[in-house]
Amino acid sequence: MKAEIVMIGTELLLGNTVDTNAVFIAEELAKLGIDIYYKSTVGDNWLRMIEVLSQALSRSDLVITSGGLGPTTDDLTREAVAALVNRKLKLNQTALKDIQMYFSRTNRTMSANNKKQAYIPDGAVGIKNKWGTAPGILLEMPHNKLIISLPGVPRELKGMFHESVVPFLQAKIQKSCLLSRTLKFVGIGESHLVEIINDVIINQTNPTVAPYASLGEVKVRITAKAESESKAQALIQPVEEQLKLLLEPYFYGVDQDTLEGVIGARLKTRNETLACAESCTGGLIAHRITNIPGSSDYFERGYITYSNKAKVEILGVDSDLIKSVGAVSKEVAIAMAVGAQKTANTTWGLAVTGIAGPSGATEEKPVGLVHIAVARNGHTKSKVYNFSGNREEIKFRASQEALNLLRQSIE
Ligand code: AMP
Ligand code: MG
Repeated sequence: MKAEIVMIGTELLLGNTVDTNAVFIAEELAKLGIDIYYKSTVGDNWLRMIEVLSQALSRSDLVITSGGLGPTTDDLTREAVAALVNRKLKLNQTALKDIQMYFSRTNRTMSANNKKQAYIPDGAVGIKNKWGTAPGILLEMPHNKLIISLPGVPRELKGMFHESVVPFLQAKIQKSCLLSRTLKFVGIGESHLVEIINDVIINQTNPTVAPYASLGEVKVRITAKAESESKAQALIQPVEEQLKLLLEPYFYGVDQDTLEGVIGARLKTRNETLACAESCTGGLIAHRITNIPGSSDYFERGYITYSNKAKVEILGVDSDLIKSVGAVSKEVAIAMAVGAQKTANTTWGLAVTGIAGPSGATEEKPVGLVHIAVARNGHTKSKVYNFSGNREEIKFRASQEALNLLRQSIE
């Protein structure tokens, strides 16, 4: 909630009165955790009051005014607020009774212009004033905008603020709901992603759209603020759809979804099975897949074929092929995927071969070079990557892209 305070009274502009109310309100709002973005002071002039108040309402959610609620002709806050929101002033019976009671309690005669103080804009709520005559005004408007007008006498303003305004604002804050949804993307870097969705990021205020990168994936968090969860959800939904559309090839899930979980669910519904052959990831892919409960329904086996010998003996990779193109090559990755799929008799074979470093690199094959392949019924797909990072990071990135290639193949 963005708040703004408007102090009303010519005596404040002339320096005759020290503006202690602004200090008090500022401190109280800070205690409530409400940010004040602007503070202005305006004299007892109807036009300039309207000017200041309409600007305040256009840029803030909560506008608190002080002063100008007295019985004399220069007290114009009631009239200005009513004109601002295009409402008539209406006699508030409770406020009138309170004013009458105040005069009888203090043994004073009520003058005709005190009755003027019981008029508040139509649709507004009167704020009880036990410390004086002028009731305050609380006016809720569309788009969660709110004006609260309090009298200038510091004792009255403080009493009413503590008694009525604090509980009201506290309830309002509690009612506001902050809801987030995280969309997850793989196979795209953060800067490329930001380039694609830049317009969405720039143009959003509620919900806000914030991308952030983590190892092997990019997340975009959409956060909405509203009165209720369902309203926040309604704000998030169109932005979520827009982002999914713009980043369709990379999107794999939301919130707690994992790549291995999403793949598992797909394989399960299709009654398909998987075997993988891993070299540089050393079983990480199998580990991630088997982290998902129920993975035995679709995960048949994993081979850790680290040595050339293992690739030949277990997966049936041609030893001459390894000799001619090297173990870290597209051809060997494909042969591993096909070998895994055939020997395990599964729907899918997934294979990874690469150089996780820090040693083992050659001039043509640097650290981070990883070949990934997927095989199904003689059809194969492969990709080559140059990952950065240390050994562990390269292993994780390789597992991430391998799972992603499989995810895209299953679609
Ligand atoms: P009003 O509600 O405008 O009739 O103000 C009543 C009296 O409250 C003024 O005569 C001032 O003495 C005092 N007052 C008004 N505004 C402030 C303020 N911002 N800070 C401190 N005192 C104020
Ligand atoms: Mg005044």
